[in-house]
Amino acid sequence: NTPLHELDPDVAAAVDAELHRQQSTLEMIASENFAPVAVMEAQGSVLTNKYAEGYPGRRYYGGCEHVDVVEQIAIDRIKELFGAEHANVQPHSGAQANAAAMFALLKPGDTIMGLNLAHGGHLTHGMKINFSGKLYNVVAYHVDEATGQVDMAQVEQLAKEHRPKLIVAGWSAYPRQLDFAAFRRVADEVGAYLMVDMAHFAGLVAAGLHPNPVPHAHVVTTTTHKTLGGPRGGVILSTQELAKKINSAVFPGQQGGPLEHVIAAKAVSFKVAASEEFKERQQRTLEGARIIAERLVQGDVREYGVSVLSGGTDVHLVLVDLRDSELDGQQAEDRLHEVGITVNRNAIPNDPRPPMVTSGLRIGTPALATRGFGAEDFREVADIIAEALKPSYDARALRDRVSALAAKHPLYPGL
Ligand code: PLP
Repeated sequence: NTPLHELDPDVAAAVDAELHRQQSTLEMIASENFAPVAVMEAQGSVLTNKYAEGYPGRRYYGGCEHVDVVEQIAIDRIKELFGAEHANVQPHSGAQANAAAMFALLKPGDTIMGLNLAHGGHLTHGMKINFSGKLYNVVAYHVDEATGQVDMAQVEQLAKEHRPKLIVAGWSAYPRQLDFAAFRRVADEVGAYLMVDMAHFAGLVAAGLHPNPVPHAHVVTTTTHKTLGGPRGGVILSTQELAKKINSAVFPGQQGGPLEHVIAAKAVSFKVAASEEFKERQQRTLEGARIIAERLVQGDVREYGVSVLSGGTDVHLVLVDLRDSELDGQQAEDRLHEVGITVNRNAIPNDPRPPMVTSGLRIGTPALATRGFGAEDFREVADIIAEALKPSYDARALRDRVSALAAKHPLYPGL
């Protein structure tokens, strides 16, 4: 029994149940991953007790000599990892990072451009009831109906028409790569800042398997817990020129005391992200997504109206298009849940079904790649998914196949 079990058996039981859920099912939510035990150890450390408003060497509290070391390590490592001039590792989350970056560069009422939410953008890229949609005048760009990809001609035309102060390039549900150089050309043409939100694909960038936005953007934001595989949190990278503005927008602009225990965990995860093992894992992540997309595009499941948006993937996720299927997004999510695979339903461009139901599924491979899944395992996963989306399916047999895969790749053994 641990101290948590002694003090609070109710919370301990729920935590244990969640560990069991993660171990016994296949986690395919594209924004999730499994943090290494060392990362969780850092996050669960005594650093949680420390107030440290300010930045390393310039704090508003005494006793910061050790958290200063930790925060500086995190800053140095992430600058090196992405080739950035400046890094702020204090944002508590990706949404906080975006709020602070916009707070640094914009005034309320300024115009921003971002990818429409239903086309793959994030809430913080200008959704109506998010801070971004309330504080700023939002002009959304879209993906092209025929190709399923962002149309740079439309981005350019909208930018020239509306003269935004900031253009956001980035996404939460998009299976292709964006052209950062083209975004920067458009931003320069209209005098806008370019902010890239690489939350989803940062791990691929770190591994050198996806173009790096840092040389093109004024500001790059990210989360640390998706493909990057660290603790839940956010980071802002920028040019040196914007460093002061960014730092003061985070603290005191948006936040109080930084979470130094999370920053310690971020630092550990940045060390991992610089390793060869991490690169190899990101290669398996990409390969897994390609295998799933190919199985759904070429397989017999097509007969039942299942297809893949944009026809494939260049990243760690696949967007399943169920517009022609009898199954809606909710039903498909429930089916996969029934057989032990966790995904999320997702609105797709021009979705005929309501947002709580949707006609899409977002399927991601980062967490399974972290668990050690390779091409052969992903072929089996792809087959299980395809079988589960057919009109008649054997839930128990599929569940057994899922259990066999989970047993083959134990998660957190010894925890
Ligand atoms: N930016 C993008 C592109 C995201 O996909 C997400 C989360 O899904 C966020 C920002 C927000 O991150 P968080 O949930 O840590 O606030």
